[in-house]
Amino acid sequence: MRYDVVIIGAGLGGLECGVLLSRRGKRVCVLEKEHLVGGCLQAYRRGKHDFDTGFHYVGGLDEGQKLHSLFSNLGLCDLPWHRMNRDCFDRIVIDGEEYDYPMGFDNFEQRMTSYFPHEAQGIRQYVTLLREIAEHIGDTAHSLPLFNISAKQWLEERIADRKLIKVLCGASLKMELSPRLPLYTFAQINSSFIQSAYRLKGSGQQVADRLAELIRHNGGEVRVKAKVENLEENDTHITAAILDNGERLEADIFIADIHPAAAMTLLQDSKLVKRIQRNRFARLDNTYGMLTVSLILKGDGIPYNDRNTYVYDGIDDFWNPEQMAQGNAVLITERYEATDRCHQIDILTPVIWQEVEQWQDTHVMHRGHDYELWKQRRAQKAISLAQNVLFETKKQGTKNKEQRSEASVNDLIDKIYVSSPLTYRDYTATAQGSAYGIRKDCENIMFTLLSPRTAAPNLLLTGQNLNLHGILGTSMTAQMTVEEVEKMEIEKLRNN
Ligand SMILES: Cc1cc2nc3c(=O)[nH]c(=O)nc-3n(C[C@H](O)[C@H](O)[C@H](O)COP(=O)(O)OP(=O)(O)OC[C@H]3O[C@@H](n4cnc5c(N)ncnc54)[C@H](O)[C@@H]3O)c2cc1C
Repeated sequence: MRYDVVIIGAGLGGLECGVLLSRRGKRVCVLEKEHLVGGCLQAYRRGKHDFDTGFHYVGGLDEGQKLHSLFSNLGLCDLPWHRMNRDCFDRIVIDGEEYDYPMGFDNFEQRMTSYFPHEAQGIRQYVTLLREIAEHIGDTAHSLPLFNISAKQWLEERIADRKLIKVLCGASLKMELSPRLPLYTFAQINSSFIQSAYRLKGSGQQVADRLAELIRHNGGEVRVKAKVENLEENDTHITAAILDNGERLEADIFIADIHPAAAMTLLQDSKLVKRIQRNRFARLDNTYGMLTVSLILKGDGIPYNDRNTYVYDGIDDFWNPEQMAQGNAVLITERYEATDRCHQIDILTPVIWQEVEQWQDTHVMHRGHDYELWKQRRAQKAISLAQNVLFETKKQGTKNKEQRSEASVNDLIDKIYVSSPLTYRDYTATAQGSAYGIRKDCENIMFTLLSPRTAAPNLLLTGQNLNLHGILGTSMTAQMTVEEVEKMEIEKLRNN
């Protein structure tokens, strides 16, 4: 079978490239190794409940904002999006003290200044940066210099109060904070969510299913249980993708929406991409993974909170991923059901690869007793950290531990399902089950910020590992990859 474009991996990035290219008349085939499309957007079902894997909320979906323009172009705006609580879409609880993030830059500045009046100037500078990023989003000339600056250093040079820095970092479990995290990565993500934050009614699978439907509508193919094992090449370019059943799919262009190190393993003995280039990706560090504890609540559940809560307990250094991954940091996010009750809650907590490495040779459902015990212990720790938050809310900026510790959250829980970085590794083939892909390093941006182009002239990359992660980051990257395809076509026309 011959195509114009074969895409390896039906994660968000691969599917978005598929929609954009099939709409331009390309004969596209997207290949997914799992039985469902979506990658991190995949939902899984237990009983009558759907569970999200890597999707909880998105930023910048108001009209006029970046994700809105990308999603309207992709036919995703009419999914059942729900704008979260404007006055508090994220609550940050640090050692029992609460701080709320409202939507809108002015509101955010006012709220932070009300908590930290002595830091008004630093807060203004930070919000000015977020505003500028929103105004220039997608403009490489604006963003590139900000990739070379450390977010930690930038904040510490402007803000003396370490607690305020923690608060400004407080919604950042949706990235990995590290001393060399580029300012752009940190600020772009925070900027988009502060502009507007949305949940979906139902799971993120709807996004993936809609994209797959559009590809098919445009005449393309989306195939599941189609694992690419190898890329075949001749002297000048990649010629075919070989599936695990031996099937051979030829194409002019190949796009890999998988971890670049995994993409390189498809090119064993390649002459087009030399071994040193192939190994380069495997040597890059990856961000931490996540343990996700999904709770089904008993009976009528609890009153629905239209916000997420990030809880940190006794963490001294927020910029140290290993400290962050010791079980004292959680993100609590409730499922939106369009009622005032909540029956399902996800609690996410970071885990570094070294903690699960001992089970790396095991597979889903067969990891052994020790692993199950470890998972149980980690899940209970996350639940007890979340416990206070799942009860009555109270005044901002006050200690709350004593007031909330009476009831036991375990009385509320009907069922618990837990996934770890190993689960993500097995389902998405992401190196080390990393949640947010390759760790970006402001002191080594040349090597950690990746181009869609590879040494093979007709093999491109896309997905969260290249540039920016998250739904917005991956969508912007998909657009960038498609622009590269267009450039390749222009080059081809010129050369003919
Ligand atoms: C726990 C968690 C929570 C998150 N929460 C949020 C959130 O709330 N908001 C947000 O904006 N972002 C969130 N993210 C990030 C977001 O989900 C990702 O950035 C994005 O979905 C990544 O998409 P992708 O296309 O790059 O890769 P992936 O989703 O990893 O897709 C890659 C696909 O390729 C397939 N594949 C791999 N190898 C092969 C092969 N050889 N042949 C065929 N197919 C193959 C995999 O099965 C997979 O389907 C979260 C991520 C995680 C892990």
